[in-house]
Amino acid sequence: MKICLDAGHFAKNNQSPVNKAYYESEMSWKLHLLLKAELERYGFEVVTTRADQKKDLGLEARGRKSAGCDLFLSIHSNACDSESADHPLACVCVSGRCDVLGLDLAQTVAKVMQTHSPGRIWKRKGSGGADYYGVLRGAATVGTPGILLEHSFHTNRRATEWLLNDSNLRKMAEAEAKVIADYFGVSKTVQPTPAQTPTPQPDPDGSFKVRIICAELNVRASAGVQYPVRMTISRNEVYTIVQTAKTSDGGTWGRLKSGAGWINIGAKYVKRI
Ligand SMILES: [Zn+2]
Repeated sequence: MKICLDAGHFAKNNQSPVNKAYYESEMSWKLHLLLKAELERYGFEVVTTRADQKKDLGLEARGRKSAGCDLFLSIHSNACDSESADHPLACVCVSGRCDVLGLDLAQTVAKVMQTHSPGRIWKRKGSGGADYYGVLRGAATVGTPGILLEHSFHTNRRATEWLLNDSNLRKMAEAEAKVIADYFGVSKTVQPTPAQTPTPQPDPDGSFKVRIICAELNVRASAGVQYPVRMTISRNEVYTIVQTAKTSDGGTWGRLKSGAGWINIGAKYVKRI
């Protein structure tokens, strides 16, 4: 597993209007290096988009640095006109491949930073249906699923104070690395959200884990190909199945514990582990 980390900005850029000590560029540089170290402790190979904090690189070029990686993650803090806005945002690639991980990361940032409002995900298409955000567009051109993670708002004084504290950033790096590690392999723990869980049900006994063995697999609203695709999951990801169902064409489907939907659990697509 290989991950590409991107510090959102370079040198001294995006100074907070409410806290002159804070620069988004300095926070994102520190945090991406801390996260690199944490991910390496889990055995990930980690590359970064720039070697020198003071030198910029174009947005798409940074995304393209993720060629051959399983994930591109760009680190930021957000800005807006309202000083009270205080919530994380994961801008996820329009392919839908990062919806689950993006939400999990945004919710984790909310929990660790204790933001006022919960974390959420957001997608934006640009011309031709490609990703609007340059770094995500660049990553998509080399086939890498990408997330641009906003660590709340540097227009919020409390958030800047939190992010200026190095031991807080270390905590954040640890928490984000754990989320990514869980997502890619060991024990996937996505917090279901109301949007993903129309009818929350207790997990029945006999749940089991599967590893995805095809390149991509559709998660559908219910058991069967006639139901709409909610998202796509990828090779080597591990999911917990809490319920199974047979379809009239002889297929076997499994409901994901996360509440995201159902996948075909035929031997061509998944391996029970
Ligand atoms: Zn930014």
